[in-house]
Amino acid sequence: MKERPNYDKAKEMVQRTNNQLRKPQYAFMELVDNSYNPFVPLITRKYHTNHPIPEDVLDLQRTYNEDPEQYRKVLLKDIKKCPAFYTHPYMEELRELVYTPEQLSLEIPDVKYKSLEDTPFLFIDRAEQLEELAKELSNAAEFAVDLEHHAHRSFLGLTCLMQISTRTNDYVVDVIALRRQMHILQEPFANPKVVKVFHGADWDVKWLQRDFGIYVVNMFDTGQAARVLGCGSYSLAYLLKEICNVTANKQYQLADWRVRPLPEEMIRYAREDTHYLLYIYDTLRRRLIATAKVKSTKDLRTYLNVVLRKSKEICAGIFVKPEARDFYYYTVISRNAAFLKKAQLRILKLMLKLRDYIARTEDESMNYICPKDFVVNVAKALPVSSLNPGRPSIVS
Ligand code: AMP
Ligand code: MN
Ligand code: ZN
Repeated sequence: MKERPNYDKAKEMVQRTNNQLRKPQYAFMELVDNSYNPFVPLITRKYHTNHPIPEDVLDLQRTYNEDPEQYRKVLLKDIKKCPAFYTHPYMEELRELVYTPEQLSLEIPDVKYKSLEDTPFLFIDRAEQLEELAKELSNAAEFAVDLEHHAHRSFLGLTCLMQISTRTNDYVVDVIALRRQMHILQEPFANPKVVKVFHGADWDVKWLQRDFGIYVVNMFDTGQAARVLGCGSYSLAYLLKEICNVTANKQYQLADWRVRPLPEEMIRYAREDTHYLLYIYDTLRRRLIATAKVKSTKDLRTYLNVVLRKSKEICAGIFVKPEARDFYYYTVISRNAAFLKKAQLRILKLMLKLRDYIARTEDESMNYICPKDFVVNVAKALPVSSLNPGRPSIVS
């Protein structure tokens, strides 16, 4: 089963977007950087380490801080700038990471989760609550995390919700209200003694970096474990059903997570995404060890280590802005070149460029400004006879 967006799902998500909603970005406009300049990491300090922030990251930040407003301007002259790659701020710590004896234990107790109703729950939308949560997480052996995200009415996308489950409690954090305070959680996330359990963390890890300057050190991805074990499907819904006999209400996966106050039903769905995850973590770890036993592998941690290595590789990814140089021109024409005349192609490229520019300046997704198919249809409808082929191309 596919976990990443497919076209129909994307369409469905567009339909479920609440366009009446006031864009939350208005409250933190000064933090949004849709320019063609490289992404500037938000990290200002590091935890649990003697390694400083890498010099090239500091350089990016210096350039930005010289004139932030100018840096964030969307200027057409910058259009050819590449998304800059930079050193992962916790690269050294990830390389030196030593797993805790507990997470490598061969004896994993079968501690059943409680029902949602019997589990203390807190919705967090104040900084003091976040401080308390940070303390609790720093002292935990492990906690489960998930994020909900919105991508239709924003250019780079925006994290809307963070769900956290410890062995005893569930939390849902309003990360829109607390966007500027989320750095409070940088410490437990970077703490190598605390295992962070995610399901399918590829995007989450990057969203945390992009919006809050949070970096994950020591992570276990249950999605990767499902792959190594060759489960029937790698989706969370499948594991929930198979391991906990819970049927996930996946209709909310594509909901507009910016709405406030959040309806009860959506909070419940959000909680379910992490509530069972530590139990699934235990179960999958036990299976990884059992598989090694069955195959008479010398090292009983062989498969566990594979999952930990893959999880670490995910943590080692960095957020970079999407490539802006061809505005999807080649993807679009690869399917349509045969139907378009040269002059139409020229206009098509120009429209795609314009769409990219408007999306950035208005902080909207390109799909919201104008779906790809519309652009193609306009180009196809252009009367070729009136397009002067002799005119020099505006776009290179
Ligand atoms: P999840 O980890 O399943 O809770 O998904 C996290 C976020 O990814 C959601 O809030 C959506 O914004 C996005 N997402 C998840 N599944 C899909 C999908 N099938 N298509 C598009 N976006 C998705
Ligand atoms: Mn997720
Ligand atoms: Zn989720």
